[in-house]
Amino acid sequence: MLSFTGNPLDRACDRRADPAWLAAQAQAGLFLPFSEGRPLVAQDRALFLPWRTEWEGLPRIFLGLDGTQPLFAVAVAGEPDLGGTFTEMRPAAFVLPARDCAIAGQAKAMLDWNRRHGFCPNCGTATEGRDGGYRRWCPQCGAEHFPRTDPVVIMLPLFEGKCLIGRNARFPGGLYSAFAGFVEPGESMEEAVRREPRSPVAQLDLAEALTRAGQPARALDVLNRAVKSNPEDALLWYQLGLSLSNADRPDEAFPALQKAVSLDPLLAEAWSLQGTSLASHGQMENAETAFRAALRAEPDHAESLGNLAHLLSAAGDLPQAEYYFARAIRMKPDDAEVRVNYAVTLAGLNRPEEALQQAEAAVKADPKSPDAHNFLGTLLARGNQPDAALREFLAATSLRPDFGLAHLNAAAILASKGDTAAARTHLEQAARDADEKIRQRALRQLR
Ligand SMILES: [Zn+2]
Repeated sequence: MLSFTGNPLDRACDRRADPAWLAAQAQAGLFLPFSEGRPLVAQDRALFLPWRTEWEGLPRIFLGLDGTQPLFAVAVAGEPDLGGTFTEMRPAAFVLPARDCAIAGQAKAMLDWNRRHGFCPNCGTATEGRDGGYRRWCPQCGAEHFPRTDPVVIMLPLFEGKCLIGRNARFPGGLYSAFAGFVEPGESMEEAVRREPRSPVAQLDLAEALTRAGQPARALDVLNRAVKSNPEDALLWYQLGLSLSNADRPDEAFPALQKAVSLDPLLAEAWSLQGTSLASHGQMENAETAFRAALRAEPDHAESLGNLAHLLSAAGDLPQAEYYFARAIRMKPDDAEVRVNYAVTLAGLNRPEEALQQAEAAVKADPKSPDAHNFLGTLLARGNQPDAALREFLAATSLRPDFGLAHLNAAAILASKGDTAAARTHLEQAARDADEKIRQRALRQLR
């Protein structure tokens, strides 16, 4: 059964407008106390208590008749000890029987509505409760106010035998749900169902699902259409930029990302991606500006910290690079790539021991990273530990067989140990590297 349905009470709406009748019901009534929107629960039941004089003057609601027993809700002050626990409605919904859940839900909605509608929206005068809490009346302008309900549609879009589900950023990992949306004024439920899957959130989910299903071209179609109908949605533009840059179309990605940050300058992800794209096109100064903008939007944005540090390191500003690397590592201790780059910077700053520590931490963070093994080997070789270094170079080449630099490094150590045959094998591997410089170095040594 659905939560909050199956309410067994007779709301006596034909009699509750009579103040004398209502007062008589209160004399014989049982009251469900609420504290700050939480019902009183004991032994997994809603706890109804007889009237207490200290509740005089507190907001109360007539819930209805359970057979002949009148039931009310009362909003108590503070959290008095009444022999139960005031429990939030959502967790309570998991333990309460359906009828208690429905009654408590009714009570909470009515107490909340009365609390929020103490003043007339028409003229601002304090309103008075009527009909046991089901109506509020304005003594100044005579307007009557009734509790509103907000109709919602919940839908499961189906396509070729599959259904589309989505997740909210606040959901715990692995939790997905159907789509839901409010019915808007002047709209039927059917119309709301047709409109909602076109909302920005649904479009983002659809694009993500298509990308994960290995259909990036269809994801791009969805996003291109979505930004046309929601041109003010920064997240859609960002997602479009991300998909375009994943599709290796940086020239189109860039304007989309620019649109995203112009709509929402605090979208660190979009700045960061823009920076990465600029850096890969050799526009280092613009890339730096973008990474710094990402960090203004989100000072602990790990990716931007690491990328800015790497950029500064490549530009020779090692002290500043070190500052950003240290912050990046604090945010993301398991990022092997950042740790390797940090180690390179520390080595450049003539701090070999710290560099070695970082390189070791990089290998530990990702034992499958060829770069981490190779740079750790380089540092070990410099520290006169050829055997340990060789182990790392060999680990790097077995993880990435076409890693020319690691082959060169391994060959140098093998040659110094007099194992020329093994050294030659590695040089031959290095001579097949895609990098021209590596290839030339290998070929020179083979001659
Ligand atoms: Zn009024």
